[in-house]
Amino acid sequence: MGEIIKGKPVADAITESVIREVEEIKSRGISPKLAIVRVGADPSDLAYERGAIKRMEKCGIDKEVIALPVDISQDEFIKELKKVNDDENVHGILVFRPMPEHLDEDIIKYVISPEKDVDCFSPVNVAKVTEGDETGFPPATPTAVMEIMKFYGVDLKGKHAVVIGRSLVVGKPVSMLLLKEHATVTICHSRTQDLPGMCRTADVLVAAVGKAKLVDDTYVKEGAVVLDVGINMDEDNNMCGDVDFDKCIEKASMITPVPAGVGSVTTSVLAKHVVKACRILNDI
Ligand code: NAD
Repeated sequence: MGEIIKGKPVADAITESVIREVEEIKSRGISPKLAIVRVGADPSDLAYERGAIKRMEKCGIDKEVIALPVDISQDEFIKELKKVNDDENVHGILVFRPMPEHLDEDIIKYVISPEKDVDCFSPVNVAKVTEGDETGFPPATPTAVMEIMKFYGVDLKGKHAVVIGRSLVVGKPVSMLLLKEHATVTICHSRTQDLPGMCRTADVLVAAVGKAKLVDDTYVKEGAVVLDVGINMDEDNNMCGDVDFDKCIEKASMITPVPAGVGSVTTSVLAKHVVKACRILNDI
């Protein structure tokens, strides 16, 4: 029976260290600030926004929500984003994605200031994740996965990590972050042949698929560490991950639950990134 590795202790530890850093920065007369740019009022955006605001408050980080109408034109949106880019009091910017279809993310991603882009929207930050350049900002969720492993003492050096999912938000960046920690990384996706067989070779298995309970005990090697990024609804309308927790905990040495796992660490990563951006922008 594996150990359940929850997100809250990790989020608490990150928050504590961010609080201390924010106090130190404020003693210099600078107040770290996050701007959240939201188009429309998608319920999942609003839920994440509430969590992010609460976390910033706990950390002593200022925040501002720029809520824009769902039918805002591309030009108007870019004008608003540039205003936030140019606002010297703002150090971190979070733009909710996916954006409404009439807004072209492939153009907008070049507008957000890379120095303030705390959730890896800008291609500059995407490149930095690939380069292993630590001056950038990897997206919050993959970073949360890595923070959990660091907190619980998972040694990645030379281990085989298998990631299920190749999205730009989770699968690809988490693979790069694992590689940086000297894991040997295999990326699986919807066309992978013999997915359970591939996964059974993993010392560390990261599931970022979006398919409720896809990963059962036939995917897990005895003693593997299992990290579940998925957020899905099961047949009873309860939140569940991509991993069948009850089956996999029997084989895993460590396993994250859903809810209360990876998802509970993301806003503390965001806070950490705002502080980092603030330090870089102010050269402190
Ligand atoms: P996505 O839909 O962009 O990507 C899913 C990936 O899974 C794709 O690369 C696809 O190839 C792969 N895939 C799909 N079906 C598969 C199958 N049957 N076998 C193997 N691979 C398959 O999703 P995403 O944005 O990467 O998110 C993945 C999951 O993580 C979702 O459940 C999402 O809700 C969740 N998520 C959680 C957080 C968090 O904070 N915890 C943040 C972002 C996403």
